[in-house]
Amino acid sequence: MSDFGYVLLKNRHIDYEANDKRIAEYIYAREPSFGYCMECGCCAGTCTSGNFTHLSLREINILIKRGETSTIKEQIDKCMLCGKCTLVCPRGVNTRNIIILAGEAIQKLEANEL
Ligand code: SF4
Ligand code: SF4
Repeated sequence: MSDFGYVLLKNRHIDYEANDKRIAEYIYAREPSFGYCMECGCCAGTCTSGNFTHLSLREINILIKRGETSTIKEQIDKCMLCGKCTLVCPRGVNTRNIIILAGEAIQKLEANEL
């Protein structure tokens, strides 16, 4: 019965520790409220741009924290910086500033300055 039970499939492992967290570190250092996000999604549910495009600040926050940042630039570019998400956030996260800082960090990474 050695094949019975649970096994870990190595080709399906996700090693978050190995991911590049430089964007997350850049934001944490400048906007500590980033750490208050509980991924509730109120920001995404209110987002004007998200109503018409694929833009979800909740998803962006999760991906940045995981270090899975290859797709976030595309979403950030759709943000109008209107600040509606900041008004509805129950944790007082400065969401607008997080988007600005994420954009800055991406630019710095692309210029090899981070
Ligand atoms: S509304 Fe605030 S706490 Fe909720 S997912 Fe957005 S940033 Fe995080
Ligand atoms: S600031 Fe950006 S993410 Fe927030 S509600 Fe406005 S368009 Fe959406």
